Amino acid sequence: MKVMKFGGTSVGKPERMHQVAQLITKDDEPKIVVLSALSGTTNALVSISDSLAAGDRIAAKRKIDELEQHYSSFITILVEKEVFVNKAVAVVKEHFEFLNIILRISFSDALNKDILAQGELMSTKLFSVYLEENGIDHLLLPALEFMSIDANEEPQLSVISHKLTALLESHADKKLFITQGYICRNARGEVDNLKRGGSDYTASLVAAAIHASVCEIWTDIDGMHNNDPRVVDKTMPIDVLSFDEAAELAYFGAKILHPTCIWPAQQTNVPVKLLNTMQPEAKGTTIAADAKSTGIKAVAAKDGIIAINIKSSRMLLAYGFLRKVFEVFEKYRTPIDMITTSEVAVSVTIDTDIHLAEMVKELEPFGHVEVDKDQAIVSIVGNEIAETPEVLKKLFDAISTVPVRMVSYGGSKHNISLLVPAAYKKEMLQLINKGVFGL
Ligand code: ADP
Ligand code: ASP
Ligand code: MG
Repeated sequence: MKVMKFGGTSVGKPERMHQVAQLITKDDEPKIVVLSALSGTTNALVSISDSLAAGDRIAAKRKIDELEQHYSSFITILVEKEVFVNKAVAVVKEHFEFLNIILRISFSDALNKDILAQGELMSTKLFSVYLEENGIDHLLLPALEFMSIDANEEPQLSVISHKLTALLESHADKKLFITQGYICRNARGEVDNLKRGGSDYTASLVAAAIHASVCEIWTDIDGMHNNDPRVVDKTMPIDVLSFDEAAELAYFGAKILHPTCIWPAQQTNVPVKLLNTMQPEAKGTTIAADAKSTGIKAVAAKDGIIAINIKSSRMLLAYGFLRKVFEVFEKYRTPIDMITTSEVAVSVTIDTDIHLAEMVKELEPFGHVEVDKDQAIVSIVGNEIAETPEVLKKLFDAISTVPVRMVSYGGSKHNISLLVPAAYKKEMLQLINKGVFGL
């Protein structure tokens, strides 16, 4: 059995949904197809939620109506025959009635998650109507029945596997299953999600849960490129990546993959393929355990980074100092991305300011604390890259005009990370493209 995930742009137009139906019926292998919401929908739902949270029901209502209009036009091209048009109209009506009811309820975090879930619920139901019109036998598998996260918001693979396997066994006569990406239930049983871009994570979790032959991520580009195509003009697709390389690129900003979506596939050794819905014959990128080629593969950048420096001459060489510092971040459940230390100071980076003020207050007794916001981590990724001596020279020659704030080298064999002010991110990616990749 294989998993095929289609992102927002792959289902964002009725013609694209038609094409997805062709792609999933090309061979006879049983499949679970994971769909995102139509492109733009989750952003629109976030915006509706924001208006409601701000108490602006008029703006929320206007945004709901605009979105409904979009779906009403979408279905007129998606399906043809009256009976299926009526079914599609009923799907749209049901979900927009729900959104209109929500307008009258007092806003809460749980309600926010309900709103955000509407996109994937609608895309899968509409796709199912289209498949039905075309006589393609399938079953809609509700993700809310098997996809769950625990109290720490972590998916529990064994629980998901157990529930999903039981569901599939109870429909052993079916070969094609359609399910929602992104949405799940939390430890309280409420509707929740796997964070933005989370449909990739759903796909990888599903693939790991059923030990799929492959997890195919279909998107709007022909695989992982060596650099961010939104920032740099000349970029190239990469044929193969190891799980470790792909995980580092995803975590450090390559938007094509959700930041933590590689681990389930890696843990169960399911290869991941990145493929282009608009160009299905393109080779794409294969991510697998045995993709062992060495050298620099790609560079990615992650914005919104905050650097915190704690300087304390009193703490010089004191054991236990780092533990105390890290305990503060642990207490506020804030992951640290980069660390550099000297004998008198430690610098760390984090990617959220949610508990920044509290953490700074708790760090202050340890020394002088300085905070630099608006930083970016630029990561150069490739197997054994840290053991290839010429890489460092090439890299630093290429970026000599950029003020680098921190360097992390040697922590991982696959990654060299540099912290720069966010304003230099673009220049940095362009310089590396020229100086390191020769493009
Ligand atoms: P989907 O909606 O299918 O999940 P995304 O927009 O999340 O698609 O991811 C695909 C996009 O990721 C591409 O269109 C591209 O602009 C962006 N991207 C950023 N970095 C990279 C990279 N290194 N390689 C390929 N795509 C990248
Ligand atoms: N629809 C969700 C989002 O836009 C999940 C996804 O597309 O992966 O973030
Ligand atoms: Mg995505």
